[in-house]
Amino acid sequence: MQTPLYQEYRCPNDNKLLFRGLLIDSEIEIKCRNCKQLVVLNGTPSNAWLCLKKDCPHREID
Ligand SMILES: [Zn+2]
Repeated sequence: MQTPLYQEYRCPNDNKLLFRGLLIDSEIEIKCRNCKQLVVLNGTPSNAWLCLKKDCPHREID
């Protein structure tokens, strides 16, 4: 299984891995299972990506 685009989102308090995924222009709220703190995570702005189309030659990561 290839997941090269996924980023790891970690708790700012204890650096515990919250989840892996790809957030674009989104915001989510998740509770850390370790320290029980509610963490708000912001996705990557879509303009930070060159191109998201799968077969586009301008795509940075494949
Ligand atoms: Zn935590």
